[in-house]
Amino acid sequence: MFKNWLSPLLSALCVLAAFDLWANESHTIPPEQRGAVILQYHHVSDTGPRSTSVTPAEFRQQMQYLKDNGFTVIQLSALVDAIRQQTPLANKSVVITFDDGYQDIAANAHPILAEFGFPYTLFVAIEPIEKGYRNMMDWATLAALAKEGAEIANHSYGHEYLVRMSAGETATQWLARVSDNIERTEATILAHTGQSHKTLAYPYGEYNADLQEWLAQQGYIALGQQSGAAGWSSGLTALPRFPVAGPYADMSSLSVKMHSLNMPVEQQNIHDPLLKDGQWRPQLQITLDMTDIHRHQMMCFIQGQGAKAPQWISENSFTIQAELDLPPGRSRYNCTAPSKATGRYYWFSQAWVRPRDDGSWPTH
Ligand SMILES: [Zn+2]
Repeated sequence: MFKNWLSPLLSALCVLAAFDLWANESHTIPPEQRGAVILQYHHVSDTGPRSTSVTPAEFRQQMQYLKDNGFTVIQLSALVDAIRQQTPLANKSVVITFDDGYQDIAANAHPILAEFGFPYTLFVAIEPIEKGYRNMMDWATLAALAKEGAEIANHSYGHEYLVRMSAGETATQWLARVSDNIERTEATILAHTGQSHKTLAYPYGEYNADLQEWLAQQGYIALGQQSGAAGWSSGLTALPRFPVAGPYADMSSLSVKMHSLNMPVEQQNIHDPLLKDGQWRPQLQITLDMTDIHRHQMMCFIQGQGAKAPQWISENSFTIQAELDLPPGRSRYNCTAPSKATGRYYWFSQAWVRPRDDGSWPTH
């Protein structure tokens, strides 16, 4: 009798204790183990356009910095797994990515990365390779890099502006065209390299909610070009990256970004970066876990309009809104705040893209 009622009670207590332990463990994973910083490069070259290039000397210095300062360079897929399962990563984890597949990456970046033993991902578009443009890698080079451990991933077929509908195109026709583009690219990469990561870097960093929904349904991961640290609070179809080139190659500002933390966003009101119907001043509302943040230290910036104080509407929610119309093309809202515990910066960015008033698009 005694044993009969004690036994279920004991097992219930055990379950409760185990749950409590699990809950505590999950809660005590520090913010610096909840994500990683993704770096986005284009050219590693002395002669490439400065706005999209770092020199081989700068690149080596940056890799040396990562090595000397306790960073762990991980595969993109390791970060994705950690976000999916909400599991911890090494403190100061970094992912290295290159867009477009320029020949100078194979010639200049790959040997340095091999020397440091750092993994990386290359996002390639198919058309420039097939057309044999002189400064792009060919399939033989890409296959050789793939064999040595490089991840080769999807950057669309012809580097298109994916969210921009063609004149006279319906939403259904648009999605059919864009999804076909992405699937053909994925199949071509698989045929030439044996790899299919189902990971897309949006050309120009442009995306919209409809495309994100299709990608998520198909099991794709996608990366933008809005800045910020990726992590547990990131959507897997809009992972942020820090561009490293030109003025952004400077080691002092880059080190702040390399140390940045995933903003603990719990909720946000707008999920579609594609602006419509004259709504050119989107009001973004963000709800945060404020455990490690002083609200007076939250700073926001609107691209082209400068600093903008966040408007706090509750203990843990604020809004941010442009005072002037965002221009046709791409824009960003950025918000940062230092961690109370470590001083490292939580860094969040929301991308926007809008057509002209007549529905046409600027060519940038
Ligand atoms: Zn690109």
